[in-house]
Amino acid sequence: MATALLDFSRCRPRLRLAEPDTHHSSRGISAVALTLEGLHADSLGAVGGSLARSGVLIFAGYASERRSVSGENPSEHERPPNRSTSNPPDNPLRSTPMAKSFHVTTFGCQMNVHDSERMRGMLASLGYDEAESRDRADLILFNTCSIRESADSRFIAHLGEAKRLKSEDPERVVGVGGCWAQSVKEEVFQRFPFVDVAFGPGQIHKLAEFLNSDSLSAQGYFEFEDFSGHLPTRREREFQGWLQISQGCNCVCSYCIVPSTRGREVSRDPEELILEAEALAADGVREVTLLGQNVNSYGRELPKDRRISFAELLARVDAIEGIERIRYTSPHPKDMNEDVIRAHAGLPALCEQIHLPLQSGSSAVLKRMRRTYNRQRYMDRVALIREHVPDCAITTDIIVGFPGETEADFTETLEVAEEVGYDGAFTFIFSPRRETEAAAMEGQLPHPVKVERMERLLEIVQRRAKERAQRFVGRTLEVLVEGTSRTDETKLRGRTRHGKAVNFEGVAAPGEFVEVEIEAATSQTLSGVSVKPLSQLL
Ligand code: SAM
Ligand code: SF4
Repeated sequence: MATALLDFSRCRPRLRLAEPDTHHSSRGISAVALTLEGLHADSLGAVGGSLARSGVLIFAGYASERRSVSGENPSEHERPPNRSTSNPPDNPLRSTPMAKSFHVTTFGCQMNVHDSERMRGMLASLGYDEAESRDRADLILFNTCSIRESADSRFIAHLGEAKRLKSEDPERVVGVGGCWAQSVKEEVFQRFPFVDVAFGPGQIHKLAEFLNSDSLSAQGYFEFEDFSGHLPTRREREFQGWLQISQGCNCVCSYCIVPSTRGREVSRDPEELILEAEALAADGVREVTLLGQNVNSYGRELPKDRRISFAELLARVDAIEGIERIRYTSPHPKDMNEDVIRAHAGLPALCEQIHLPLQSGSSAVLKRMRRTYNRQRYMDRVALIREHVPDCAITTDIIVGFPGETEADFTETLEVAEEVGYDGAFTFIFSPRRETEAAAMEGQLPHPVKVERMERLLEIVQRRAKERAQRFVGRTLEVLVEGTSRTDETKLRGRTRHGKAVNFEGVAAPGEFVEVEIEAATSQTLSGVSVKPLSQLL
């Protein structure tokens, strides 16, 4: 029977769990040691569900001081002694004598940022503190991405440092999670024997199991088991939260590794999502971002009696008091139906921003990409957005240099970029990914050709984004304050409902809404002066 040791000493004190026994019986936990104050019922359920599906939960409390670990050096594959031995199961009230520390480096998309927040929350529940740098951490974690080759190589460069730190202190644990780990699976241990634990995006909770186990050998966990959305979280910003609504992708885009790393699409139950969104709102979240690989195909595979559409889900989140902004990423143009576009016009919290990944402006290339829309259908979606939400910011993803892309194909991409006038774009040089159809296609283009095309595309994207941004100059926009400006410490930084970053003069706290008069705009950022915090205007 598995035993999970949980340290809830850092839980928020204003939340209270009323009936822990009842709450957990359905999760297969056979013993609950004590009633807790200061613990969110859902996060307890999440921890219980994910860490101890068939085991005993032991609640340990009270903060413990952080100390560095010293001791005998285990062999390369050997792990340090069981982390929970200082809190034997028969004495659940004993405090943890030494807090271990962890450091996590995140690569890739917002889904990974979200997963890393779950890792942080889960590790905090286990009594770990977050270290400022890798050399101060007992547990060095990487949450990896494999979408392009550049992501692989950046991560591998960082892994070199982990190897050195592990050789200095072999008690350190090195963990590799995320899509790259999933794509190479057990090969991680052959290529990097100093790695102790590897896990895919659907097995984050297994990290806790590993840290609490007696296993002395390296472990890999690669079968999808659970959404990381079930785990406790530690948000980067108190007032912004993620809501993972689905996992995986049923599309077969010929260039993309995601279906093989994140698996088939699975949507979470809407009632569970609403409870989670309500809990986020109660916890101070004002802006929520719905996450999925193909977020707007949400719900299709749910049983009929539980099924709601993506637009209906948006409406239900919009109705939650306290949630003042809703965003989502990433949608697919083929699923950008009129009800979703109309929701942007009708739901007060849903922001005027739609990410509509183009990938290519050429219908022939789109066909080889297996995107299931052509240039005309894409432009029809854009027209529908402009019709219902004229001021909507539209952003996109574009791939340059797909196999067989001719100069004429590329010209079509430039034409679409010019015609749409994106508010922003993520542009990528095509990168052949292992086991994808496109990697084996004929007509792979030389790198210099891709780079030259990218430069031409960037010129148009940036020019059009700058032109589009001029419509904000002279307007007063609602800005959610995120902190200090990255370029000028005397200024604040926040984001408009359109998703535009704004640097502005004024006095306000992170998480506050302010009204900012926009004075200037570049392709990337706006700048201005705050008029008054909104709270003072009400
Ligand atoms: N699900 C989203 C969609 O359908 O647009 C995209 C998710 S993917 C994580 C983000 C972006 O990475 C894609 O939109 C695509 O532009 C880019 N991308 C994916 N595979 C790529 C590859 N092999 N080479 C270059 N860019 C790639
Ligand atoms: Fe990849 Fe997005 Fe296509 Fe899914 S829809 S295969 S995540 S590019």
